Amino acid sequence: MSRLQGKNVLITGASSGIGEACARHFAQAGSNLFLAARRQERLDALKQELEARYPSIKILTHVLDVRVKANVNAAINFFGDIDVLVNNAGLVIGLDKLEDITEEAMDTMMDTNVKGLVYVTQAVIPGMRARNKGHVINIGSVAGQQAYGNGSIYCATKAAVASVTRALMHETVDTAIRVSEINPGLVETEFSVIRFRGDKEKADSVYKGLTPLNGDDIAETVIFVAGRPDHVNIAEMLVFPTNQA
Ligand code: NDP
Repeated sequence: MSRLQGKNVLITGASSGIGEACARHFAQAGSNLFLAARRQERLDALKQELEARYPSIKILTHVLDVRVKANVNAAINFFGDIDVLVNNAGLVIGLDKLEDITEEAMDTMMDTNVKGLVYVTQAVIPGMRARNKGHVINIGSVAGQQAYGNGSIYCATKAAVASVTRALMHETVDTAIRVSEINPGLVETEFSVIRFRGDKEKADSVYKGLTPLNGDDIAETVIFVAGRPDHVNIAEMLVFPTNQA
């Protein structure tokens, strides 16, 4: 029997890409799914599909903008006890030189990737502490370790995720709560095109000379990390396409 069977798993940003792939893999492992994102129709379609394939699991969805703390708290109350939190919601707004980044783009990335992740974690941790169990899995990025030109704010948000993850690991060290960070390299998702404001040609050019990862590649890593025995915490994983370094 899978160690993940019957666990309640909350995935933020479950409406596409890595989050959606995580939903499929946790469903296959027999976990109950709590799916959150802003696009309700995507969540509804995913719920319908997975309920048909895995009738024994429970699936709840909640429209959620992680930037709004009150909505985050309402969503966590609605879902109930959470065993595994996959903090996946995140975005990049274009790729611009530091002097060209608008305040709005900066706020959106900071508010989503950092503050949103913190809001969700703040709402979930008390329940995990009360039950003395749980696993927080943050989706960071190689961008948090290797800053690149035209990516300053996005890279900074992911560096912040790394710091928040490591600090939380210290803060929960005297509990049975596990805290992990998975840092993907290049993954082909909607993010790839959003990064270039919809320019598919530019988006594809990033993948010259390599086969990018897909959502399933990262979801399989998340499942591996979540599925270790309770005394094993994989603190950090860096997952690259073979020809990325
Ligand atoms: P996608 O664009 O496919 O998915 C992003 C998800 O985040 C969507 O489901 C989106 O849902 C959700 N989201 C965005 N903003 C919010 C918000 N304010 N509130 C709630 N949900 C939100 O991209 P990926 O799957 O690639 O990205 C997932 C994570 O992986 C991100 O954190 C990203 O930074 C990280 N990552 C991606 C890499 C890549 O190359 N693709 C590499 C390294 C890390 P909705 O719009 O419905 O709200």
